Amino acid sequence: MPPQERWKSRSLAADWSELRDQARGRGALSNASGRFERQYAEPFDDGWLQEEKPATLKTETILEKPRTIITYNTSPDIGFDRTINPYKGCEHGCIYCFARPNHAYRGLSPGLDFETKIFVKPSAPVLLRRELSKKTYKPSPIQFAGDTDIYQPLEKELRIARGILEVLSEFNHPVMLITKSALILRDLDLLAPMAEKGLVSVAISFTSLDHQLSRVMEPRCAAPHRRLDAMRELSGAGIPVTAMTAPLIPALNEPELEQLLEAAADAGARRAGYVLLRLPLEIAGLFTEWLEAHYPDRARRVMSLLRGMHNGHDYRSEWAVRQRGDGPYAQLIAARFRNTTRRLGLNSARAALRTDLFCAPSQKDTGSQMGLFDDP
Ligand code: SF4
Repeated sequence: MPPQERWKSRSLAADWSELRDQARGRGALSNASGRFERQYAEPFDDGWLQEEKPATLKTETILEKPRTIITYNTSPDIGFDRTINPYKGCEHGCIYCFARPNHAYRGLSPGLDFETKIFVKPSAPVLLRRELSKKTYKPSPIQFAGDTDIYQPLEKELRIARGILEVLSEFNHPVMLITKSALILRDLDLLAPMAEKGLVSVAISFTSLDHQLSRVMEPRCAAPHRRLDAMRELSGAGIPVTAMTAPLIPALNEPELEQLLEAAADAGARRAGYVLLRLPLEIAGLFTEWLEAHYPDRARRVMSLLRGMHNGHDYRSEWAVRQRGDGPYAQLIAARFRNTTRRLGLNSARAALRTDLFCAPSQKDTGSQMGLFDDP
């Protein structure tokens, strides 16, 4: 059976209430092997452990020692060519997260492993300083992060994102941040002066005003009102804020589109964007499993509308359609987004981030600090 199909069969066979118990406080309901594993494993209850309560899953960190920290891309449908990703995996646990399948490359599950086994790169600020100091380096806005959330709960203690921002600020390097966490407000002291120089913009991913939906769909992210507070404080400090209503899931949070944009504009957002739910690889099985468990009444409608925008498939990976689909329902969403943003004055101006202020300070400390991350 192909890997994607394994997930679907797991979904159909699952006992939802049992899965919900095992994954309390997490997004995914299962932890099946990734697509590269030769052997497929899934838990099976043989009846011996009926009296025991399943243990709550704890979050583990795994130290990574990369050689470089800036990742370059050539994708034509995203507006940046470089990213920094100090974390892999994300404790926020959004069920739809498009970074989930990357955990399969590490021999781990895109399900619960993705939310509980987090790779961390504490050497990221030192590596960044070294890369920016190279004579050949040409500045261009960095998307921070392009993969998983930099302000996930671990950041409070590890402060890796903060260290990276300190380096970017020192080099006057432009940066675009995206998060679903109010922890970003901790770094206002760095972000506000950078914004004054035209070096920073922030996108807050804002998916629902419904606390119950948000809690099960993005279990460890900031609650909707906290994200609005973050938008308000950031924009009050002069930082350009974009509200990303992403992903839009048809018949689930998509009916809230206009209310989300209105709330974001009221909180000071200047720009907005949206992306349709994307279900590549293992996410399709994880999402449908979750959908049938939490929203059985509308699971069929959600998937039917989504497939209607992907020519009968759960997902298409072509550049032109992967972000927004096509067909009548996709056009209707696009028109609603366009009309509402126009009415609210969102997206009327685009302030490009400056690259001309970039300067590489002395190269001190670019090599010597690497020893800090050697094994004890
Ligand atoms: S916050 Fe972002 S990176 Fe983290 S799980 Fe959610 S979608 Fe993925």
